[in-house]
Amino acid sequence: MDTKYRNAWVESYSNYNSRLKYKTFQNRSDAKSIIEVQYDSDKPGRYGRIVYRNTNSKYSTPFRTYLNTSNIHIRNSANVRRSTASHELGHALGLKELEDKSKPEHSVMYKHRDRYSVIRATSLDIIRIDKLY
Ligand SMILES: [Zn+2]
Repeated sequence: MDTKYRNAWVESYSNYNSRLKYKTFQNRSDAKSIIEVQYDSDKPGRYGRIVYRNTNSKYSTPFRTYLNTSNIHIRNSANVRRSTASHELGHALGLKELEDKSKPEHSVMYKHRDRYSVIRATSLDIIRIDKLY
């Protein structure tokens, strides 16, 4: 994986790891989760996607997610990559989309957030995740 995409993922999960109370991402060679990039040319407007998340596992949460390298903003902006990685990992942790159109800056889970400025989980997102575990 190209360093610029890897950096977005690492920055995102490191940020979650330093702030969450009960859940961490672990970088292990035997991990069942897959974090990757894909050239999803059928959906050039798509930034990223979580394609699988196992909610039945008690102690670990296997998931598979990617950044879409056919999206020009993903290719060209480190902040858009960070915002998208943080959003997809938020799904991996159990968060759903938020529809709060009045305060999009309050959550990385808002679909229509400004991806150039809302680039990591907000305190609201962290509180919501901690409540799940
Ligand atoms: Zn989403």
